[in-house]
Amino acid sequence: MAGVLLRSVQTLSRGVPRSLVTSQTLHYRLKSSKPDVIIEQSRDGVVHTPLDTFTDEEIMIRDMVRKFSQERIAPLVKSMDTNSKMEASVIQGLFELGLMGIEVDPKYGGTGASFISSMLVIEELAKVDPSVSVTCDIQNTLINALFMRLGTEEQKDTYLPRLCKDMVGSFCLSEAESGSDAFSLRTTATKKKDYFVINGSKMWISNSEQAGVFLVMANANQSAGYKGITCFIVPKDTEGFHIGKKEDKLGLRASSTCSLTFDNVKVPESSILGTFGQGYKYAIEMLNEGRIGIAAQMLGLAQGCFDQTIPYTKQRIQFGKRIFDFQGMQHQIAQIATQLEATRLLTYNAARLREAGKPFKKEACMAKYFSSEVACLTTSKCMEWMGGVGFTKDYPIEKYYRDAKIGTIYEGTSNIQLSTIAKFLDKEY
Ligand SMILES: Cc1cc2nc3c(=O)[nH]c(=O)nc-3n(C[C@H](O)[C@H](O)[C@H](O)COP(=O)(O)OP(=O)(O)OC[C@H]3O[C@@H](n4cnc5c(N)ncnc54)[C@H](O)[C@@H]3O)c2cc1C
Repeated sequence: MAGVLLRSVQTLSRGVPRSLVTSQTLHYRLKSSKPDVIIEQSRDGVVHTPLDTFTDEEIMIRDMVRKFSQERIAPLVKSMDTNSKMEASVIQGLFELGLMGIEVDPKYGGTGASFISSMLVIEELAKVDPSVSVTCDIQNTLINALFMRLGTEEQKDTYLPRLCKDMVGSFCLSEAESGSDAFSLRTTATKKKDYFVINGSKMWISNSEQAGVFLVMANANQSAGYKGITCFIVPKDTEGFHIGKKEDKLGLRASSTCSLTFDNVKVPESSILGTFGQGYKYAIEMLNEGRIGIAAQMLGLAQGCFDQTIPYTKQRIQFGKRIFDFQGMQHQIAQIATQLEATRLLTYNAARLREAGKPFKKEACMAKYFSSEVACLTTSKCMEWMGGVGFTKDYPIEKYYRDAKIGTIYEGTSNIQLSTIAKFLDKEY
């Protein structure tokens, strides 16, 4: 089944998102009750349609992931959470469906789809299991993106086909002493003839248990401060490189998060990804985009939790009525549904801006900040609406509640998002 789905995705034409249709296809009619909506061209030559409008290809990928999540992930979610272990079959399924190389050019074995497709995949996976979603998110928005943009032909030929087929990658920036203040990192890379020697350690590295390749930010010129930070490709089996113990976490338990140590790890000069001393720029750029991925993950998580909760409120009877029928419940449910809609629009808008090549950083921060707050609120409310059973492991709500909290922490805490948004506002006014 998987191979067939992947092939049919690949044979689809590369469609431009309908929100970016040009003047040749003007007067596209949307299905609507009264009256018919005629899409008009905007001043910049772009035709705008509702944000929740996708190409046939994007819809097909989303539906394929929905089916995969229900059939192959849902039955394993509880045991993966309990055992803190991602099933190999799940990762294999992601590879088989082309979901680990969504935007990668088909010449490297990728699916060659859009950034929006990546966001839809991350969202759909998170509806069922946010741990699986983050594995896919990091691979697509950080690892593949860095290789595609910065890799030499040789690096791309070596890694992209594997990243699309069977190799997971990890993004290694954070350290015990440098989290929000990421560029104060202490891992060093010392130049010797035509190679570098990396020493130091990393912390909180997602996917590290499964990863075959690690993109490591190390300072290769400490006298230049953060401008010495350089991105190195470190294969898993490199001598002196050790993967430490897995963190015992509140949520995202199936996603591995480990510390790493580098003990005189020797890597050739050719393992620099991009330009010497530009690692800090790459990290910022990638995390700007990655934040839209986290927004999509939190959106999917919140929606998945809401979808699993509302049917219960329509079945549970108290005081002779469905609990959904109490106005006190309805108002809360309607408020959360509105917050979810706002999250969706912020996330899709940030993704569309990025895809259209327009400035998107402020919007990405807003989407990430808002979606993680809404995910925490939604899961908390859903638990309350379920009453006592929501607090037990018999229902998935408590897991969504635990999984949601990470959204306010990784790829920039909520405070860091707010500070960045404020920097933009300072310039605007
Ligand atoms: C499950 C998980 C997975 C992760 N995966 C990865 C990964 O794959 N790769 C990777 O490199 N990293 C990863 N991280 C690390 C993550 O990005 C950091 O935890 C995060 O950036 C916060 O850093 P910190 O934990 O050191 O917190 P700190 O930076 O110490 O922050 C603590 C508190 O201080 C606040 N604070 C700090 N500075 C400021 C400021 N200037 N203004 C206002 N408030 C401030 C923060 O908002 C926060 O509330 C992961 C973390 C977790 C928990």
